[in-house]
Amino acid sequence: MASPRLSVGLDIGGTKTLAVLLGDDGEVLAQSRLSTALGPVGVVDGAARAVQGVVRQAGVTLDAVTGVGVGVPGLVDAGAGTVRHAVNLGLDGAALDLSTLLSARLGGVGVGVENDLNVAAVGAAHLVEAEAGDRTPTDLAFLALGTGLAAGIVLDGRLRRGSHGAAGEIGHVPVDPAGPPCACGQRGCLELYASGSAVTALWPTATGRPAPVELFEAAAAGDPDALVARATYARAVAAAVRMLVLTVDVQHVVLGGGVSQLGQPLLDVVRDALVDESAASGFLRSLDLPGRVRLAPGRVAVGAVGAAVVGRGAVAHARDLAG
Ligand SMILES: [Zn+2]
Repeated sequence: MASPRLSVGLDIGGTKTLAVLLGDDGEVLAQSRLSTALGPVGVVDGAARAVQGVVRQAGVTLDAVTGVGVGVPGLVDAGAGTVRHAVNLGLDGAALDLSTLLSARLGGVGVGVENDLNVAAVGAAHLVEAEAGDRTPTDLAFLALGTGLAAGIVLDGRLRRGSHGAAGEIGHVPVDPAGPPCACGQRGCLELYASGSAVTALWPTATGRPAPVELFEAAAAGDPDALVARATYARAVAAAVRMLVLTVDVQHVVLGGGVSQLGQPLLDVVRDALVDESAASGFLRSLDLPGRVRLAPGRVAVGAVGAAVVGRGAVAHARDLAG
């Protein structure tokens, strides 16, 4: 009997590291959550511990793992397996050879490294395909509504990074040339209206809880200012969805990032905005934008699942080089 093809995925964030063990059929066999250790030594040590922990939890050994994938925030060179400028992880401009260092700690298993947004997109595509009950490669964008705004894009089941790694950087498409200055040097970028930070600007938190939670609570309670602010925000997210569909015609736009923790109430207002904007356009109506936007499936960590899918590819790559 062939031994099962297991892979481990890690999603290393600034405060926590999520780990999953993915089985032969792509099912999640175990998952865990640890505090992230910072700095070059901490990141490698913490990643090795997270892999060993989730493997032990599933009652298997490292020998059964054929590949490991790691999602990290920062500038990733996926081909080289390196990361730099991951400020949240205490990594500066010097490239950390995460792939080689982690592989050495794990008995030589192949390690793939990918940007955190990209692993989330790969994970969302994997889960959407599993939910649909078939493995037809999907077209999907994972729209991260966080501190910033960007999308990870999967086309025909393959991650699309772009020729300069800038695919999906729609947060810096200017939507109002007379708008406020953006950190990127332009004015009126979409990120200033549709990111999580934009919610905080629209509706500053009064109690210290996340601004999106307070805004949506106030709107649900009928506060007229909150209703206006919520509709303004929903239109901005709808603009991001429209931009993605009209550029790459993805079947699914998955809402992710911190704001997406609002869940169904967020999805409802974004769909409403898309319906409103399609009202005068038969062209837009024919594209069914409201039907394409959705939340991430299930309650598993999409980023860690995507990293585990990347980990499988790391094996294939290593074999390609060997063969
Ligand atoms: Zn910008």
